[in-house]
Amino acid sequence: MTTRPLGKSGLFVSPLCYGTLPFSPLQSYRGGTAEQALTRAFELGVNFLDTAQLYSNYDILRSALAKAKRDIVLTSKTYAYTREDAERAVEEARRSLGRDVIDIFLLHEQESEHTLRGHAPALEALYDAKAKGTIRAVGLSTHRPEGVLAAVKAGLDIVHPLLNIAGLGLPQNGRAAMEDAITAAVNAGLGVYTMKALGGGHLWRDAQNALTYARRWGHSLALGMRDVQEVEAAVTFFETGALPSLKESKPRSLHIASWCSGCGKCVEACPNGALTVVDGRAGLRAGIELKGFETPERTQEGVYDPRTENGVCNPCVLCGYCGAACPEFCIKVV
Ligand code: SF4
Ligand code: SF4
Repeated sequence: MTTRPLGKSGLFVSPLCYGTLPFSPLQSYRGGTAEQALTRAFELGVNFLDTAQLYSNYDILRSALAKAKRDIVLTSKTYAYTREDAERAVEEARRSLGRDVIDIFLLHEQESEHTLRGHAPALEALYDAKAKGTIRAVGLSTHRPEGVLAAVKAGLDIVHPLLNIAGLGLPQNGRAAMEDAITAAVNAGLGVYTMKALGGGHLWRDAQNALTYARRWGHSLALGMRDVQEVEAAVTFFETGALPSLKESKPRSLHIASWCSGCGKCVEACPNGALTVVDGRAGLRAGIELKGFETPERTQEGVYDPRTENGVCNPCVLCGYCGAACPEFCIKVV
């Protein structure tokens, strides 16, 4: 796989970035497939890997990174507000991933210039780390077009936005605004790599079209791949433009356990406004209309499948971030 410049950051990356959220407790990862899948991806030319403090998977990634026979461009992210927390996040990533330098550090999930302003001390600490040479580039990840524009305005090096053909996880009619924002970021010289091309797995049945659309935007695309089969299929797609047919893996869904106390912390944590508390228990709220991508699926007892009747879909992208916020450990993506 040929690498390309990631904007003006000075980094060169493969057009396919390994998104490591599937190897996280947030996605009920129980071990076993990560090292093999990552090693295969590196053998096939993937040199770009995305993780985050929130994923709690540094120890899982460390061994495959240590054995990689090529230089891997590594991103991590932090929710830090303060200088001290940002410094700790960089040091934790360096120590736990066994790397002197983390290539890219992002402020996680910034919605706009207002949220970015709230993280100013953390941003300053990341720039100091860049000046010291412990990171090479600074940026943000975002689910909002306003977040991308904030990165452009602030002159950051990298932006990691959500984009998919169905607009899943974006505000209603947000896809066009996100496309415009990404174009502005690329034109301003930022390195842009997108996420959620398959909407957390909901667009799996139309993956060929979804990936064909998503690869047109930005310099690289982060894709969560669970095993060697998915890695090989994704690399084939990036090399030939055709996605091989895959054995359908089990569709994932959000599970909220019956002991939910209704505290609402998950509702606040969800970046997509997908949750609500009704009658003292959390659940997915009524969906947005999605045309052409959904096959109606039944909602089972206690298992909330975002695909609901009549082609209406909840904006949940199965990221699992709500699970990290739940004090009762009720939520899992399974
Ligand atoms: S998994 Fe949770 S946090 Fe992520 S989009 Fe779905 S409801 Fe929101
Ligand atoms: S955070 Fe956990 S306990 Fe609180 S409402 Fe959400 S699922 Fe229920």
